[in-house]
Amino acid sequence: MSETIRLTGVSKSFGQVPAVRDASLTAGRGEFVALLGPSGCGKTTLLRLIAGLEAPDTGEIEVEGSLVAGRRAWVPPERRNVGIVFQDYALFPHRTVAQNVGYGVERSGRARRVAAVLGLVGLAGYEQRYPHELSGGQQQRVALARALGPEPGTILLDEPWSNIDPLLRQAMREELAEILRRAGVTVLLVTHDREEAFSLSDRIALMHDGAVVQAGSAEDVYLRPADRWTAEFAGAANFVPGRLAGDRVDTPIGSFAVTPNGHGEAVEVLIRPERLELLPDAQGSGEVVDRQFRGHDVFYRVRLGDGTTLVSQRPSTEIVRLGERVLLRAHGDEVTVFGAP
Ligand code: ATP
Repeated sequence: MSETIRLTGVSKSFGQVPAVRDASLTAGRGEFVALLGPSGCGKTTLLRLIAGLEAPDTGEIEVEGSLVAGRRAWVPPERRNVGIVFQDYALFPHRTVAQNVGYGVERSGRARRVAAVLGLVGLAGYEQRYPHELSGGQQQRVALARALGPEPGTILLDEPWSNIDPLLRQAMREELAEILRRAGVTVLLVTHDREEAFSLSDRIALMHDGAVVQAGSAEDVYLRPADRWTAEFAGAANFVPGRLAGDRVDTPIGSFAVTPNGHGEAVEVLIRPERLELLPDAQGSGEVVDRQFRGHDVFYRVRLGDGTTLVSQRPSTEIVRLGERVLLRAHGDEVTVFGAP
């Protein structure tokens, strides 16, 4: 896959605050990449650096094989072939939908292009409305149409659903993702919502404290996280103490295969709650000390003899009672191991 976006060792500080630190990232043509991370980790700054709304202190940014920012290069935002949809849409309030969408489009062929992108986002017939005459979702589609107007190779989206009613969010995500797939553009989506990133993107770039700490598929990030922080950010996690013994690791709830990694070393083993099965057993080493019913599944907190508590996620068709004694069994064999803290 050819690359549309490439960042190499990009850093950006605001005064004493390092917003982006030595970030490297690629996005292939037509790929949907989510920039995922907690509030303040530098996602928006990274997006603004790609768009050309900020200049990096160090590092290089390439768009479609051309250097657009670096020590000897600077291409202004309007010449980067990148469209951006801001969190608040930033529509011009006193311009009609057609005028908003036609804004960055060359005069010759403007009417045809405006009609084409409004068709793509399902707003044909809305040309003469003003932004205040539209719903939030329609305003968002106008913002997307405006970004798509100049036929960019890449669309950057900054938390596009944060102002949308949670009940409508799911449907709107699917709708927008479908429009972007049909437009055939590369997409970089900034979000702090891991389910959004998991369900929409081809690849996730996880950010923490200004750095891209892992880039990979949702499965990679969830099942093979790069470090303990990533493991916790990617989903509910148990960290079970273990000791390495050749190509296995021994833990209080069983022995698992690991990549050979020395002997006798104390480690932590990542066991996701859905891998932990509970078998009611009067002689079992665990006791169910908390039970949270969540609809299709139930989260159980189980205390072991040594005081460790682990979380198990079971389908709600399997009922285990509060206070019941259980044996714990982890499904699957290969596990991810971290050095003990
Ligand atoms: P959020 O999800 O809350 O929007 P984010 O991950 O997008 O956060 P950024 O907005 O990129 O994070 O901010 C990263 C850091 O840089 C933060 O500490 C922020 O306060 C700081 N920062 C961002 N923009 C500026 C600015 N223009 N001037 C000073 N500091 C800034």
